[in-house]
Amino acid sequence: MKRFLLPYLICPACLPREYPLNLSAERETEGDITTGTLACTKCKKRFPIKEGIAHLLPAPDSCLTGSQRRYEEKEMTDRYLWSHYGDLLDDAVRTDTAAHWAECLSNAASTGFDAGCSVGRITFEMANRCNLAVGCDLSRSFIKTARTLAHRRELAFSLPLEGNLTETFHLTLPVAWRTENVEFVVADALRLPFSANSFEQIASLNLLDRVSYPLAHLFEMNRTAAPRNASFLFADPFAWSTMAAPEERWLGGTTSGPYPGRGGDNVRALLEGKDRILVPAWTIARAGTHAWKMRTHCNHYEVVTSEYLVACR
Ligand SMILES: [Zn+2]
Repeated sequence: MKRFLLPYLICPACLPREYPLNLSAERETEGDITTGTLACTKCKKRFPIKEGIAHLLPAPDSCLTGSQRRYEEKEMTDRYLWSHYGDLLDDAVRTDTAAHWAECLSNAASTGFDAGCSVGRITFEMANRCNLAVGCDLSRSFIKTARTLAHRRELAFSLPLEGNLTETFHLTLPVAWRTENVEFVVADALRLPFSANSFEQIASLNLLDRVSYPLAHLFEMNRTAAPRNASFLFADPFAWSTMAAPEERWLGGTTSGPYPGRGGDNVRALLEGKDRILVPAWTIARAGTHAWKMRTHCNHYEVVTSEYLVACR
């Protein structure tokens, strides 16, 4: 974990109260702590840094749930690499997804945060526009891969071609991309280990319908965003499922309950200040839909359409 992140970190277990973390670095190379511990100044809970990765989960020893475990599989990581970096690969079947999301980012923000960053594409795009950018995900595999990419600037991965045949892709980051100001940590999007008002650019892409408490996720994003001069890129396919969250917590897709109707309408209303849950209120600057692909094999792709909002305050 790079040292520049330390001033932004708080104990995720003590939320909603915010207490800083004390760092004990055991091994460090040029400002990057490879082995160490972060300890809460209040509850004394310890969060390990192992192989450079800070594990900032509220219950550091908690086991993965069944649905989360699949995000630790190598094939899933490789599928997300293809989806995120398809435009940088020599593949005819690709989308302009990343470029589309990137042009929704602010060029005026100094700090960026990407929740549910997966293998990191949008975090890197933020790093190219901000002084520092941090991505978080529950998946250790995703975070390890994103950190490896930041460190080596290249990697190879394979996907099914047909049957047992595979196709190998070689990914190299463009020379102009910044990586010294980017960091990735394991964290829970419902209890973010960052102090309030930390980030001028925040992003939550295709995460809301995967978390166990969608409103808590929006609340956390709002807490960590700057109260002014902030930009929020939000997108989701609203594929609500009881596998992720009980129906009474969905922010749409139901006919009754606190948030009936369409998820896009409800998220927009919440951002605009409905019930004063997300304050200061946001103004919607832009809205639309964008399709992105996941590859199964060379002749099969899943196309997902996400509804997006760019909100400012
Ligand atoms: Zn604590």
